[in-house]
Amino acid sequence: MLDIPKIERFTQMTQVDPQNDLGFLSLGKALMDGDEFRQAIPPLMTAIKLNPALSAAYLLLGEAQRKVGDPEGAVLTLQKGYRVAQEKGDLMPRNRMASLLQELGSNPPEEKAVELTPELIAAGNIKCRRCGRVGPKMKERPFSGALGEEIHESVCNPCFQLWIRQGTKVINELRLNLTEVNAQEVYDGHMKEFLGIK
Ligand SMILES: [Zn+2]
Repeated sequence: MLDIPKIERFTQMTQVDPQNDLGFLSLGKALMDGDEFRQAIPPLMTAIKLNPALSAAYLLLGEAQRKVGDPEGAVLTLQKGYRVAQEKGDLMPRNRMASLLQELGSNPPEEKAVELTPELIAAGNIKCRRCGRVGPKMKERPFSGALGEEIHESVCNPCFQLWIRQGTKVINELRLNLTEVNAQEVYDGHMKEFLGIK
């Protein structure tokens, strides 16, 4: 469904502040939700121009290009976006772009996979279970207990920092009071899911 008031609001936002990458992204998304794929393309391209690290914009743009019958354009966009998402550790858009690329008969760009060798482990490296990259361990265990230990052994610092931000959102949006056992369990559940811990 085309949400006209929403589209007007985001259009106005981009007119007031032409540097607002998220405004252009939201406008493109609202147009896509209304199946206006052709119209969605220019604002999404602008969002990427303003912020080339905005992985969600590549995903939407690739989808829009596919819908309007431009598979070559879609593949180019998605390959670029895949690299951006990989670099930032944005797992969800990265995986969705990979499957879109496969549907388009293409493959995600080759990654130079670094394997975790005994030498790298001895030098204090881990392979992160969220982003899959090999990198240095966090300096300290992020919190006490078995879960803190497990995270220290298997999650990189950039991914844990992303979780801190996400965790704050979880607390606010679900109105969790972490002094309650129940709330702590909900919080831990979200953390495990975010970090890819079973
Ligand atoms: Zn990571």
